[in-house]
Parts: sequence; C-alpha cells; structure tokens
Amino acid sequence: MTDAPSYLFYQTRNPRPFLDRAEGIYMFDEDGRRYIDGSSGAMVSNIGHSNPRVLAKMKAQMNRATFGYRLHFRTHPSEDLAAKTVAMTPEGLDRVFFVSGGSEAVESAVKLARQYALTQGQGKRHKVISRFPSYHGCTFGALDLTGYDPLREPFAPMMEGMPKVAAPVTYLDRDDLSEEARGLKYAEALRTRILELGPETVLAFVMEPVGGASTGALVAPDSYYGRVREVCDEFGVILIYDEVMTGAGRTGKFLAAEHWGITPDIVALSKGFGAGYAPLGAIVARHELVEPVLDAGGFAHGFTYAGNPLACAAGLAVLEEIEEQDLIGNAARMGEVLMSELRQLMAEYDFIGHVRGKGLLTAFELVSDRATMTPLDPGLNAYDRLVNLAYERGLILYSRRTRGGTAGDHFLLAPPLIITEAQIAEMMAILRDGLDAFAGETGL
Ligand code: PLP
Repeated sequence: MTDAPSYLFYQTRNPRPFLDRAEGIYMFDEDGRRYIDGSSGAMVSNIGHSNPRVLAKMKAQMNRATFGYRLHFRTHPSEDLAAKTVAMTPEGLDRVFFVSGGSEAVESAVKLARQYALTQGQGKRHKVISRFPSYHGCTFGALDLTGYDPLREPFAPMMEGMPKVAAPVTYLDRDDLSEEARGLKYAEALRTRILELGPETVLAFVMEPVGGASTGALVAPDSYYGRVREVCDEFGVILIYDEVMTGAGRTGKFLAAEHWGITPDIVALSKGFGAGYAPLGAIVARHELVEPVLDAGGFAHGFTYAGNPLACAAGLAVLEEIEEQDLIGNAARMGEVLMSELRQLMAEYDFIGHVRGKGLLTAFELVSDRATMTPLDPGLNAYDRLVNLAYERGLILYSRRTRGGTAGDHFLLAPPLIITEAQIAEMMAILRDGLDAFAGETGL
C-alpha cells in the first residue's frame, strides 16, 4: 500500500506506510507493525492516542453542534476551556484567545502586543526580537521570527528583517565562565540589542523557554530567565513565551515558565494543548494588555475556526485528562528516568556528544568528536539514517539536522506523558538496537 499513487504533497514525497490505528503510546501501520510514538508525533500527542474518555466527550459535543461562529453564539466548550486554561496557568495570565495551531498562536501574540502598544500611544514600537537559532512557525510572520535561515531565505525579501539575538547555547561556549554567568551574558546581549535598536522601537521579545525543533530541548542556565524578564521590564518590552511545544505539561509543569517562576506577558500554546485530538492553539495574556485593546474597539484579529466548539471540547477533555491522571507529575517523574537513561547512553556511545532536556522533552546530539563537539560528516545523513533505523525497529524519533548554533544532528525523545518506566525501558532497548546498527553502517 505504501506505493499507492498520491496526489498529496508535503515537504517531500512520503515514503512511510499508511497509519491504521493508534492507542496509548503505540501506533500501528496497515501491515500490523507496531511503533512506539517516541516523539508524540511532533511533540503533540501528550495524553497518548485514542483516549476513550476524550473521544466520548468529543462525540457528545458532535451530537450537539460541531460549529458555531463566535460572533453569533457563545459556546460552553470555549468558555469552559478558557476558564480551565486560566486556572492551570500561573496567576496573572487570565485572558484567552483561541486559534488552530502554533504559527497562528505566535502571530496572534505579536498582533496583540502591537495593538496594545498602539493603545498606549507607542506606535513606534514594532520590532520583535527573537533568537538564533529558534523555531516559531512557518507562516510569513512566524517565519520571520524563526531563527533558521534555510527556512526563511527562500522567501526573502518577503516579510523579512526582524532582529535576532543569540540563543543561550552555552554547552558550546568555550569561555571560563560559570553557567550562571553565561546565562546572564546572553540576557545582557538582549539588553544591548534593545539599546542598539532604540528601546522606543522595540515591541516584544519572543523565546522558547526550552528549545524545540530549533535547538533540540535546549535549557538555558537558570540565571537567564529572570534576567530576561528584568530586561524586558526595564524597557517596557512585552515578553512572549512560545510554549507551543513546551506547554500543557510536557516539561513537568503546565508552562515551562513555571520552572523559573516567570510570568510572561503573553504565552503561545498549541501542540499538546489539543494533543492531536483537534487542531487547537491559544494565546494566554495578562488582562492589563487585553482590556485596553477591548476598550479601544476590540482585537482586530481572528480566525474563522477560532473557538470552534468541537476543538474546544477536545481541548477541555485533554486538560481534564492531564489533571485527573496527574500527567504533569508523571512527565516530571518519567523525565528523570529518561534523562538518566540518556546519560547512560552517552556513556555507551562516543558519538553522542550531548544530552539535555526538561521533563519529557529530551534530546541527544550526535557528533564526531565529543571534546570539540565537531558535527558528524553531513554526508552520513545521520539525522535521517538513525530515524529510519529506529523506525524499521518500531520506534518513532524526531530529528533535525545540524543547523548552526547547535553542534550536530539532534534527536528529540518526547513520548506521550502517559509513558511508564517499563515502556521507557522498551523504547531505550529499540533505540540501542538502532544506534548499534547506525554504528555498524557508519563505522563510528
Ligand atoms: N512554535 C514552536 C516552538 C513550535 O515548535 C512550532 C512547531 O513546531 C510552532 C511554533 C509552529 O506550530 P504549527 O506547526 O502548529 O504552526
């Protein structure tokens, strides 16, 4: 069936088999082969697949109404999901706007910031600083914030030119500073950039609190987070946390921001928020930003599917599941188990240069020399090769090729938050088998 003709196109032609069904952490193709969903798809399926309680709640909503345009009706699923989201996020974040995906969430956050600035007579503020490397989405606005040139440059000069600062990739730094001092150094670089640009022109700073596809689960030194918040406050710059990948419990807190006690001004959510049961995202913002915008005539922004009752019913059921099963606690506990497994793997394979992560968002990176963190020969296509070897053995990994700013090809291990210790052991056994085959094929 894999060879059946296809009229679909994505980035590449798709050589993968047809998906038959999925349940828990497992996916099954049409030939009956089983795969562990080691990356929750693209860090999406946080509560696992085919959760019967979520499906039942979705079916109940389907029987009532699948669509109700938000300008014509209020709906209980959207109001209830907004209330639940506010209850689960840190105090201060208390207004919600729904979207259908991550790129939409990021762009909505920037537009809210911009409209708020206008209500404050700060129309000069239009520059949005982001980091290099980073990933914030693929629509033009989100793409310009993305710090990865191969995705942006083919479209230049459309929507280009937002300023960037270096992401704190401190494990590649070769200075004598402590981690603490390095964190402060990267935050000071943001301050310097704001001063260079003219603080009165800077609208917002956007960051992924734990890196996703861009830097592979990169965690900054603790000192970075608080200092960035201070720098933004000093200049009235709106701090946007892109928690599209990290949000909804993946890192062992509902928001990754909570690990550092930070309350951003706006948070972007998607992926695990709908957990694959519906295309869903949201921005959660401080009411101090939202109320002036509403008073001035309303947020001049909105998508047809925003607040769709079926999507919101799914999102609400997902959050209830996260709470009732203590999946955030499980992400923290199983994250520790997975991290120690990864450290063990690093002791076994010389070509693993670095392992990192927070909760169940973890990564390992391949290099040819750990001491110098020299990337592997690109001709090895390691990022593809190891993914395929793992896939053939029944484990789905998510990889990114080296992209400047990080050393080598990296692989995200981010299973659903329902995973058990025994299932982690099962996953690691397949990964070891794949790494052995990789070593055999490449001579590493
Ligand atoms: N922001 C982050 C941090 C992401 O990881 C992603 C997707 O990978 C996006 C934004 C874009 O989300 P979407 O693909 O749903 O538009």
